[in-house]
Amino acid sequence: MDISFVIPVYNEEGDLLQLHSEITAQMAKLGRSYEIFFINDGSTDSSLDLIKKLANEDGHVHCVSFRRNFGKSEALSAGFKRVKGKYVFTLDADLQDDPSEIPAFLAMMEEGYDLVSGWKKERHDPLEKRLPSKLFNATVSWMTGVKLHDFNCGFKCYTKECTEELDVYGERHRFMPALANERGFKVGELVVNHRARIHGKSKFGLERYARGFLDLLTVTFLAVYTRRPAHIIGGVGVLSLILGGFCLFLSWLLYFFGNMKQVMAAVPFFMTALAFIVFGGLAVFLGLISELLVARSRTPERTIHSIKEEF
Ligand code: UDP
Ligand code: MG
Repeated sequence: MDISFVIPVYNEEGDLLQLHSEITAQMAKLGRSYEIFFINDGSTDSSLDLIKKLANEDGHVHCVSFRRNFGKSEALSAGFKRVKGKYVFTLDADLQDDPSEIPAFLAMMEEGYDLVSGWKKERHDPLEKRLPSKLFNATVSWMTGVKLHDFNCGFKCYTKECTEELDVYGERHRFMPALANERGFKVGELVVNHRARIHGKSKFGLERYARGFLDLLTVTFLAVYTRRPAHIIGGVGVLSLILGGFCLFLSWLLYFFGNMKQVMAAVPFFMTALAFIVFGGLAVFLGLISELLVARSRTPERTIHSIKEEF
């Protein structure tokens, strides 16, 4: 199998048939083997019926249908578990992503990328969506060190290995390039044609950016801390203990050797020392507890390292 498509669908009845025919037309031109997974994420319109109809007529089409709406990340994750293709495309079902970009993606993948992410350079969305998106992308880029313009574009192409290793849950679909980069996959960007939504409506409002920023904290936190939490959290603790020790030493010096006025100054130094020492001690314990969590949650399937080749 050459190519797999994973398409999350949440109430997109207006676009499914056209999307299917656009993909089919592209794949006919390319002449490569492919499969299409529609992940029905609890649609309440006729989307599921349409997918059933497509699956009956076209052997390339498969469907996973959720019992209720679980979100885009879960939908992608269900797709990633099932795909067989060497390359795995994800694209939105609302026709905003243009299947005629498929060959351009493939060309980049053949160059050796593990993940190519679409960049909606000329975006056909309202301004109140584009502005926060710019800010969001700049922040993610800065915090994760992955230099992309558009993290959240639904149109992406992955190697199969990359989809196998990335754990998409919650709303982590916004950070796939960052997660892939963290594991050492080669991540690239491709300017894609973006179309306005014609049918249906957007499933994400502005609250996505608030959640996105919180997720950004978790993602960067996990990236840095999972490997050696005690070194980082505990490190802050040790620093605090050293500062505390220094303040304590100063307060004793003042207390035992100072004149009347200097003895008074020993008190604030002593208090400060106490605060640093208590905080430092707690942080060291916190570091140890997080080491315990990491040690307990290590499973053979989900390693921190990522292997490219083995002989
Ligand atoms: N989607 C989904 N589950 C959800 C929300 C969205 O599967 O809970 C799908 C949706 O059907 C579409 C894609 O995710 O195929 C992107 O959604 P949308 O177009 O609303 O996002 P936007 O273009 O506004 O970023
Ligand atoms: Mg859309």
